[in-house]
Amino acid sequence: MPALFVGHGSPMNALEHDNPFVNAWRAVGESLPRPTAILAVSAHWETRGLAATAMALPRTIHDFGGFPRALFEMQYPAPGDPALVARLADLVAPAPLKRDAEWGLDHGTWSVLTHMFPEADIPVVQLSLDAGLDGQGHYDMARRLRPLRDEGVLILGSGNIVHNLRVMDWDETVPPFDWAVRFDKAIKTALLTGDVASILDPNRLGPQDAWMSIQGPEHYIPLIYALAQKDEGEPLRLFTERLALKSCSMTSVMVGGAEIALPADEKAAA
Ligand code: ZN
Repeated sequence: MPALFVGHGSPMNALEHDNPFVNAWRAVGESLPRPTAILAVSAHWETRGLAATAMALPRTIHDFGGFPRALFEMQYPAPGDPALVARLADLVAPAPLKRDAEWGLDHGTWSVLTHMFPEADIPVVQLSLDAGLDGQGHYDMARRLRPLRDEGVLILGSGNIVHNLRVMDWDETVPPFDWAVRFDKAIKTALLTGDVASILDPNRLGPQDAWMSIQGPEHYIPLIYALAQKDEGEPLRLFTERLALKSCSMTSVMVGGAEIALPADEKAAA
């Protein structure tokens, strides 16, 4: 099973039917083998220590404000997977795993899955971001999840490589900031050349660009969870290589697996 990092961008993508991002998410879902379960690592769930959603039926969380009613009415009623949570506890040991009964599926997870797996019939577990870990700590934690790929579990990191809300511009016609373009490109190069050290410590790629692009690290860190699934010599492919909202990179990554059958305009853009 491949592993994914998806740039999720605006929650409004959940309501879109035809844009380059949701078209690619749909195409990726159609090209993947059917997962036994999905382990989602979303930018929108940070905890002290590690936690996983352990409920049989996780609720759909509308963790945003100021969006249309239709977005608040969206549901992604995928079942949970308590057996996968038990498996996770074994894999991350000796680090303790909190069985969470309160969170659910946040929009980092469902705004993507509603396009990738619209039937919502594959069990989904969310794994939190442990706020106490640094880049290397996240990588080591994520690497322990690697056996899940052989068990048919799709590991899905959801965030954005460049994510600066403070200077975001909702006018889609304005070009992105130069620093956003530079940082996105530097990360893509590091991914494609196997420069893991720079992914784990992106200040190496230019501290000013990294600071403007990452801000809170939560949208960047899910990338590490996908990258850590890569075995020696395995392919790594990029898709939806675009910047949106002037300061939000939608660049996404697939580790392993076959060539993705992407919509025509995405191939042209890449
Ligand atoms: Zn987000």
